[in-house]
Amino acid sequence: MRVPVFAANWKMNHGPRATRSYLGHFLSHYPAREDRTVIICPPAVSLEAARSALTTRSDILLGVQNVYWEEKGAFTGETSPAMAHEAGASVTLVGHSERRHLFGETDEMTARKCAAAWRGGLTPILCVGESQDERDRGETRAVVLRQLRAGITSLDTAHVRCMLFAYEPVWAIGTGRTATPDDASEVHGWMRAALAEEIGEQAREIPLLYGGSVNAETAPRLLAAPHVDGLLVGGASLDAERWAHMACT
Ligand code: PEP
Repeated sequence: MRVPVFAANWKMNHGPRATRSYLGHFLSHYPAREDRTVIICPPAVSLEAARSALTTRSDILLGVQNVYWEEKGAFTGETSPAMAHEAGASVTLVGHSERRHLFGETDEMTARKCAAAWRGGLTPILCVGESQDERDRGETRAVVLRQLRAGITSLDTAHVRCMLFAYEPVWAIGTGRTATPDDASEVHGWMRAALAEEIGEQAREIPLLYGGSVNAETAPRLLAAPHVDGLLVGGASLDAERWAHMACT
């Protein structure tokens, strides 16, 4: 039985001091609940501060927003999965659209990152989604499924079964435009079917999140849509009280 997943992507917001303050507020508005999973992805430099602030709250998971696939070495500015894990993360985003579109991350890179995440002790959340142009050309299904299949290409069933996926249409991220519950549900259905082709019946258990300008108003309707098992939220997760409220949806 899946429980809904509420994942916050802070992007490049909240350094260590702001992280401590945010989590102090968040914890006072969000009592531990067993009927949902909350994941918070601060910037990598704030992971330690987040871990310290959450020592009494093992119900809240920490994620890192990006990792590199090598374990260590001359890769200036990068973070390995094992390092993020040591700093408190148990999850990592992979292939977020800002990584793909601003930093040139390719399908091949997301595949390497997913495999490296598992090796380093992190559960990947593979993000997929079409751009506005691709949507206009009727390519949503092809793009989403290409990104999905590419990201898991070198993983075995046991790992695919335990990871998460997020459908995040590029045109909806940070734009104030949200996919309708029907649209999200349709794409999630394609994703579920593609995963079933890869790993069989166990695909039913994989959490499929929706992300893209979700707010407290749109969250309940999206969560009620078939195949939508959780939310990945950027802008609306930056305020501790708003996020606590949304995580209680
Ligand atoms: C995101 O960054 O994953 C995201 C969904 O952002 P926003 O909610 O701001 O659109």
